[in-house]
Amino acid sequence: MKMKFPHNLIDGIYQNLVGLKDKIEKRISSLKMQDPYSDPDRVNDNAASDTDAKEESTHERTEAIEKVLKSSLEEINLALERIKKGTYGKCLNCRKKISLDRLAIKPTALYCVECERKKEK
Ligand SMILES: [Zn+2]
Repeated sequence: MKMKFPHNLIDGIYQNLVGLKDKIEKRISSLKMQDPYSDPDRVNDNAASDTDAKEESTHERTEAIEKVLKSSLEEINLALERIKKGTYGKCLNCRKKISLDRLAIKPTALYCVECERKKEK
């Protein structure tokens, strides 16, 4: 018999990831609301250069946070897809199973510990 991950465990991870995805998506949309550049009512007034500078730094900051959030969202989507396809928990490099300990810490892991180490070198 082939070793497989228990279904309830994968289900639990799946639910967790879906919840996380929802949270991140909400954070991204609330970030967008804070970003003055995405405000459709924003008046482009050249006389208000102080406001412009302030808006620009806020824009840059929110953009940086958004980038981080979006990359974790991509990781989550990839993990969810792998769960659906049944390839979840398999190392992309050596095809061996990623240990449960590792998945518990990093549920979006694509590589086993060994391959991850090799990649870092
Ligand atoms: Zn591996």
